[in-house]
Amino acid sequence: MNFKSYVGKVFVVESSKSIIRDEQFNSLKYQAGEALPPGKQVGDVKTIPQRTEIKVTDVKTDSGRHTFVFAVAASEGQQFGWTSSMNLDGGFKNETAGLAPGKWDLEPLGNNMTCIDANALIRDGGPDFTSRGIRIPVRTFVAVTERSGDGKFVRVSRLAIVQGKMQVGEEIGWTKASNLTDGCSDLYFSDEWANNKGPNACWRRGEYLGPKLLVNIVGFGGEMEQITLDSLDPYLKLKDAAEQENIQISINSAFRTFQRQAELRRLFEAGRGNLAAKPGHSNHQHGQAFDLNTRHNVFDGSDKIYEWLKRNGPTHGFVRTVSNESWHWEFRPTDADLLAAAGKFKLDGVEDRA
Ligand SMILES: [Zn+2]
Repeated sequence: MNFKSYVGKVFVVESSKSIIRDEQFNSLKYQAGEALPPGKQVGDVKTIPQRTEIKVTDVKTDSGRHTFVFAVAASEGQQFGWTSSMNLDGGFKNETAGLAPGKWDLEPLGNNMTCIDANALIRDGGPDFTSRGIRIPVRTFVAVTERSGDGKFVRVSRLAIVQGKMQVGEEIGWTKASNLTDGCSDLYFSDEWANNKGPNACWRRGEYLGPKLLVNIVGFGGEMEQITLDSLDPYLKLKDAAEQENIQISINSAFRTFQRQAELRRLFEAGRGNLAAKPGHSNHQHGQAFDLNTRHNVFDGSDKIYEWLKRNGPTHGFVRTVSNESWHWEFRPTDADLLAAAGKFKLDGVEDRA
């Protein structure tokens, strides 16, 4: 799968201070003996000239989630190096940069999976799928070779990865599809995530839903956000429709990990943050909620983004669901259809202070 929207595109360097950085994001300086651009001296910080057309060949983030792009001149292919994504025209917003987290032995291809459930019973085939009383060890990589009609059970074989390629080995048997997750990776078992079922864990109303695939997407401030794969298309359609009318929508917060929600909850309880649900209870934890770049609670008609969302959100499946949070929109196609038909954009009971 390829979720790198920037591949093949040309971007224009907008900032006059587009500093070129090394792999650790330290700024580079012109050295003695190097060809110097007009007006530059040895010791000056290297920059990409304003209005240069570039291509992006790689994307990564620093520890603060700020996005950097590896810039190569679009015309003659000269390599510049790493620079902040915010230096580009449009800030590189809404570009996607692969799956998150990035540590894959084998990225999801549809039938390569990892066993994540300690009670993954091996079963006979249908219609009864009788348990054989033995289990597939957690962390086993498997290849799905067949699915039951209702999709609840899968037939799997052992999977080895040899030089990045799948090698399907001996058959294991049938098991519940919910015991497996897409892709082959150890990341589901790192200590960092041990207490809440992995970096892709989705939660709703305190219940664990299972992992979902997440895509990296650049947010409003140039920070790298995550969005569930199943909500990527609806979001991009909304964003594209707005763009047709010169309205630039971007994300302040979409998918949140359990830990991130816990952090926001702690801030809220300490009186230092917006209202935040308890971890496991936020609609930001399963791909439904999006905090968009509206101005905060400006209801006098002057916020063009908010006004556009009011008029067009519901026809794209997005509605407002939280009182006094003009930025918080949720992808709820069923509710949205009803609201759109009634000429509304907020769920009943959602009220805003005057
Ligand atoms: Zn929100």
